[in-house]
Amino acid sequence: MKKLLTLLLLLVFIASNAQDVYLHCGKLIDTKSGKELSEKTIIVSGNKIISIETGYLTPKNPKDRVIDLKNKTVLPGLIDMHVHIEGETSRDQYLKPFTLNDADVAFNAAEIARRTLLAGFTTVRDLGGSGVNVALRNAINSGKSDGPRIYTAEKALATTGGHADPTNGRKKELMGDPGPAQGVVNGVEDAAKAVRQRYKNGADWIKITATGGVLSVAKSGKNPQFSEDEIRAIVQTAKDYEMPVAAHAHGDEGMQRAIRAGVKTIEHGTLMSDETMELMKKHNTYLVPTISAGRFVSDQAKIENYYPAIIVPKALEIGPKIQEMFARAYKKEVPIVFGTDAGVFPHGQNAKEFGYMVEAGMPEMQAIQSATIIPAQLLNAENEIGQIAPGFLADIIAVEDNPIKSIKSLENVVFIMKNGVIYKN
Ligand SMILES: [Zn+2]
Repeated sequence: MKKLLTLLLLLVFIASNAQDVYLHCGKLIDTKSGKELSEKTIIVSGNKIISIETGYLTPKNPKDRVIDLKNKTVLPGLIDMHVHIEGETSRDQYLKPFTLNDADVAFNAAEIARRTLLAGFTTVRDLGGSGVNVALRNAINSGKSDGPRIYTAEKALATTGGHADPTNGRKKELMGDPGPAQGVVNGVEDAAKAVRQRYKNGADWIKITATGGVLSVAKSGKNPQFSEDEIRAIVQTAKDYEMPVAAHAHGDEGMQRAIRAGVKTIEHGTLMSDETMELMKKHNTYLVPTISAGRFVSDQAKIENYYPAIIVPKALEIGPKIQEMFARAYKKEVPIVFGTDAGVFPHGQNAKEFGYMVEAGMPEMQAIQSATIIPAQLLNAENEIGQIAPGFLADIIAVEDNPIKSIKSLENVVFIMKNGVIYKN
C-alpha cells in the first residue's frame, strides 16, 4: 500500500513537472470543416494536442510555456505526397551514381530532410531512391535525425529500360541485367518478387513507373512500360503486405492500365484524357499533380547542357502541360492530393506548388486540405496527422499572413512544431 502511494505521488510529480505548451493562435485553420477560426489556444502535452480552447488561456502551472502566435495563422504541418528525399537536381546529377557512396547519400539526405521540415512539411511520402531513404526514415522516427516523418517506397519498380531502370543509358558493361532485387521486373513472377523484396527492405509503399519519364536517359517520356497483368500482380502482392501502390505516369494508356489494376495514386498525370479522368473518379484514384516539377524541368531544359540531350525535348514537351491538365482535373472533380516531386527541383520550395494550384483554379482552402487532411487519409494516418484536434500528433505550423487570402504566405513558415518538438519559432 505504501509502495503504491509513493508511486502515485511520483506520477503526480512527473505530471506536474512536465511542461505543456500553450499556443495562442490569432487565426487557426480547421482543415476538417474548411473554416478559419480565430482567437484559440492549442494546448500541447508531450507529442500530442490535448485540447483547443476558445480565447487566449493562461496556464495554471508556471512551468508551462506560452507561445504568442496572435498575429499569425496557424495550421497543421503540411504533407507532401511526392518527394525524393535522397537527392536533388544539379548539372552533375547523372554522374552521382558513379561517385557517391551510400554514406554520402545519407549525409546529403539528412540535410535535405532538415530543409524540408524547416519549410513546414512535417510529413512526406518519398517515392523512390536507393534504399538509404529507409535508414533515414528510421533515424528520424527514433529521434536521431531531424526531418519530416517519412513514408517511403524505397526503390521504384520499372521494366527493363523503363523510367526507373537504374542502368538506363550506360555502356553495355555497366548496364548489366538488373532484376527484381534492383527493382526491375519483367512478367508477373518478377513483379511479385520485386514487391516482396521491397517489403523485406522496409518499404511502406510501392512505386512503379507505369510510363516513360522526363529525366531518365531514354527516348520516350510517355509510352506505357508495364503490361496490365504485371501491374495487377504488383498491386495484388503489395496488398498482401498492406502496401498501397503509386504509379508515375505521363501517357494516357499507361495511366489507364494502372488505374484499372488498382493503384492508389497517379503521379504527374500529364497527358490525362477526359476518359481517364472519369476512370480516376470511378476507382477513387488520386492525382498527385507535381506542377512545380513540370515548370522547373521545362525552364531548366532551356539552359544549355543542364540535362543530357535526350532529355531536353521531353522536358520541353511534357513540363508545361501539367498545370493545364491539373486545371481540367480539378474542374472535373478528380480526387487530388498535394505532391511536388521535390528533388527534381530544389527541396524546401515545396510550398510553391500551392500557388500553382490556386493559379489553376483551386480555392486556397481546398489546396491546404489537399496537403493536410486528404494525404493523412491516404497514408492511413487520418487519426494522427492532417488536423489540429485533440488526440492528434502535435504537428503545427504558423505563417505571417492568412493563406486563405494570400496563398504565397505558405512559402514562408515562421513557426514549426513536429511531434511536440519546436524546430522554428
Ligand atoms: Zn518523382
